[in-house]
Amino acid sequence: MNEFGLIQRFFAEAAASRAAAKNDSMLLLGIGDDCALITPPHGQQLAISTDTLVAGRHFPLETDAYSIGWKAVAVNLSDLAAMGATPHSILLALSLPSADEDFLHEFSRGLFAICDQYGVQLIGGDTTRSPVLSITITVLGWLPIGQAITRAGAQAGDLIMVTGTLGDAAYALRHPRSPLQHRLDRPLPRVAFGQALRGYATAMLDISDGLTQDLGHIAQASGLDACVDVACLPLHAVLQRCLDDNPNHPAVLHDALAGGDDYELCFTVPEQSVAAVLAEADRQQVQVTQIGRMLPRQSAKTQVQLRLHQQPFVLQQIGFQHFD
Ligand code: ADP
Ligand code: MG
Repeated sequence: MNEFGLIQRFFAEAAASRAAAKNDSMLLLGIGDDCALITPPHGQQLAISTDTLVAGRHFPLETDAYSIGWKAVAVNLSDLAAMGATPHSILLALSLPSADEDFLHEFSRGLFAICDQYGVQLIGGDTTRSPVLSITITVLGWLPIGQAITRAGAQAGDLIMVTGTLGDAAYALRHPRSPLQHRLDRPLPRVAFGQALRGYATAMLDISDGLTQDLGHIAQASGLDACVDVACLPLHAVLQRCLDDNPNHPAVLHDALAGGDDYELCFTVPEQSVAAVLAEADRQQVQVTQIGRMLPRQSAKTQVQLRLHQQPFVLQQIGFQHFD
């Protein structure tokens, strides 16, 4: 199978049939020409982001192809969720060691499954051979002009909140085939909830490299410090049980505070908006937990203070970085 046959069979046909069914007036031209063409909706601005997954680096080599396709889209949708944007479409740059048809079949199934679930269309991409499997996806979405929730808007006194439970994916990485495997392989980006936070959250991001490090980005961008109560961290029952057995379980707290791949939202909310946020969380059946508060900056350098039972809590490594 050559490059064009591969694109046609695994991506272009499936994308074209979905585009026809969706009849999206914004999408003038999808896969097949030199560029895709989109007419932006009136009064909206484009939100655009890109993320790469490299085999063995961002997912274990034994990850199934369906999950790789799913996750490559999920991590990108999570970035749109983190700004409050509405996803529209993706581009897929795929670097493959070989044209393995079984892999491509399952990979594209996973990719289109999450696209369908979130109403997103594949509108283009690039296909190359490379020694290492690598997937780069670019995601496009819309935001009402001026309503993006950036990292920079937090105010001193705002409450810090997170969706879902933290550390599940890091736990799954350490315990292959655990009941939390799906949290590592098939994250569900909080797209609808992210959009609902427009007008309420003052700052937001998605947690991909560990809560402590990522919250540090909000604090830094907003010119503040952050204080997190470690006893408030939302934990899945599996992690909570480990902690109940050993209240100072270092690995569990490390997973929750610094583990990667959560793809939950972390956001700041002024006191007067908390009730509205909790009502929306209830409506969408999204777990939301208050974990701390934004504070005026105390020194030249931003600090994320961790506290457990009023005492400072020390973390060995605050989060994931590629070039340590
Ligand atoms: P070019 O020569 O301009 O790079 P290509 O031959 O790479 O064009 O791609 C032909 C068409 O197929 C383009 O519309 C491109 O966007 C699309 N395409 C290529 N690879 C993929 C892919 N993996 N997924 C989706 N669309 C793709
Ligand atoms: Mg190309």
